[in-house]
Amino acid sequence: MEKKEQLYEGKAKKVYATEDPSLVIVSYKDDATALDGLKKGSIAGKGSINNRMSNYLMELLEKEGVPTHFVEELSDRETLVRRVTIVPLEVIIRNISAGSFAKRYGVEEGIVFAEPTIEFSYKNDSLHDPLINEYHALALGLATRQEIDRIKELAFRVNDILRAYFKGLGVKLVDFKLEFGRTGTGEIVLADEISPDTCRFWDARTNEKLDKDRFRRDMGGVEDAYREMMRRVFGDRA
Ligand code: UDP
Repeated sequence: MEKKEQLYEGKAKKVYATEDPSLVIVSYKDDATALDGLKKGSIAGKGSINNRMSNYLMELLEKEGVPTHFVEELSDRETLVRRVTIVPLEVIIRNISAGSFAKRYGVEEGIVFAEPTIEFSYKNDSLHDPLINEYHALALGLATRQEIDRIKELAFRVNDILRAYFKGLGVKLVDFKLEFGRTGTGEIVLADEISPDTCRFWDARTNEKLDKDRFRRDMGGVEDAYREMMRRVFGDRA
């Protein structure tokens, strides 16, 4: 499958058309942004790591019955995916307090929740992705009640599968962000990516951060953290 015209360029990825109108090619960049776009930089090797890790996790989720956009990895940085219209919601699942949750509610990071939480942000750069609830999403026409119910069901199922998977690698899945898309036939599928850009990963033993927080917080060791997560997932094939 060959790349045709570029359809879209986002902060971390480019999307290209193919000869098949139901398929597009995603190309992962090393570019990184944080703090609502205020902080810009690049993380060497990130594009390839996020592409390969995301594809591996999407295949794992497919095997467990979660529909995803994944079709085929084409190269280190490029993947063929189903063309979807993205539901403009960032779906955030949390198992442990961190980041904006800790800040918003004035609690420390690292509190293990009795049950995972879910929250939604309206994907809208000019409004800075405001936090919204399901009723707001419905009122704004971002998704139907059926779609929101399906998204919640799939997001919690993804959490169950990934939390257990990462536990086996000695990694705590603290929180993560998912995006869902609608296919041409109206099916809701998991889209975007699952990577150290979109998940908080803490080493199970030391709580060392192995994700994009090292970039957001200028902690150093960003590339090493991404490589370490790659090593945990792929071992010698990293
Ligand atoms: N996240 C993301 N993209 C965003 C905002 C958050 O992928 O635009 C991920 C982030 O990596 C973390 C989770 O969603 O794993 C929860 O992030 P949080 O709401 O705590 O926001 P942050 O502290 O990153 O601003």
